[in-house]
Amino acid sequence: MYSFAVIGAGVIGLSAATAIQEHIPSATVTIYSEKLSPEITSNVAAGMWAPYLYQRTDAGKILEWGKGTHDQLLKLWKAGYANEAGICLQFVKSLSEGVDVYIGENIVYGEHPMPVEEVEFMSKLFNKKFKTAVNYVSFTCEPSKYLPFLHKQFVHNGGRIVLKKINDFEELSHYDLVVNCTGLGAPLLTGDTKMTPIRGTVSRVVAPWQFHSVMEDDIYIILNMENAVLGTTSQFGDYDTTVREVETKNINHYCQNLVPSLENAELIKTNVGLRPGRVEVRLETEIRSLKGKQTAIVHNYGHGGCGVTLSYGCALNVVQLVRAALNIPQQSKL
Ligand SMILES: Cc1cc2nc3c(=O)[nH]c(=O)nc-3n(C[C@H](O)[C@H](O)[C@H](O)COP(=O)(O)OP(=O)(O)OC[C@H]3O[C@@H](n4cnc5c(N)ncnc54)[C@H](O)[C@@H]3O)c2cc1C
Repeated sequence: MYSFAVIGAGVIGLSAATAIQEHIPSATVTIYSEKLSPEITSNVAAGMWAPYLYQRTDAGKILEWGKGTHDQLLKLWKAGYANEAGICLQFVKSLSEGVDVYIGENIVYGEHPMPVEEVEFMSKLFNKKFKTAVNYVSFTCEPSKYLPFLHKQFVHNGGRIVLKKINDFEELSHYDLVVNCTGLGAPLLTGDTKMTPIRGTVSRVVAPWQFHSVMEDDIYIILNMENAVLGTTSQFGDYDTTVREVETKNINHYCQNLVPSLENAELIKTNVGLRPGRVEVRLETEIRSLKGKQTAIVHNYGHGGCGVTLSYGCALNVVQLVRAALNIPQQSKL
């Protein structure tokens, strides 16, 4: 029987912990976390499956991990967990005046460039000059529902959650292996100098008449089950988590430009979150001597603006790294 510690109970830590339980049933898993949902960054996320703000991470890796998550969301959605886990399949319009917004790899459904007439129509409507634009169908996964869903699943499968800040990996030297999913908390434990917060603001409004999500570069209207999420900002290096009224006004203004019917949508709340930005996502094994014992630490942090999107795909990669570190063979399918 292996015993593993996972540090962090955000979407990254909970996904890694539940994936380990599923794929290595001979393991006992304990999560150590300073904070839990809803007090964490993951709760602020709009939950759209979309690669975003991942800096210099290899684009192929992003799509591979993203596909792993998309497949998992589809599996849960088909199995009847849409309501409990906050998973919605929805129509998305993605437009840009600059960057190419095409995702590719057939991950989202029916992705196709908008017909020229539609791009012209949208450009006129919004007084913009869109250069690239695609329509597709994809998932959102609402963290305020998804995190409790994962938490419940983890505990149901025998996992234990300890509310505790870890200040040094040595505190966990009695485990066979440690998985580090501490997001922006990683530098404290690792001394990592490649991380920076990317401050993001979103407002949640009631707009039940809106039936598709719209994204235009940093401006978006993303539908969750009971409200629409309007975003966002992306300030690198800014640790301030207070809401700035002027930003809320600007976000509402830009989103109303994009979808004028939001004019009188009731504002529920505005939240600020610090995305765990890193030059590139860190997903690798390090061997450290913890109290004289050579211990494998699997690092899984720095997912920037798309931690929800990458969560389960990265979790599957964590499982591979855990198996490799401890020479655990694949489960026989017999
Ligand atoms: C405004 C905004 C909108 C977003 N929208 C989207 C979106 O639509 N789609 C998408 O894919 N992503 C989105 N994101 C990004 C996403 O929220 C993050 O990438 C993701 O939440 C990162 O998850 P995490 O588990 O690494 O971090 P966190 O949620 O911050 O979790 C880290 C965990 O580690 C714990 N921890 C840290 N240090 C320690 C320690 N020393 N000891 C013990 N515990 C520790 C914390 O308490 C916490 O439980 C958005 C982010 C923001 C801010």
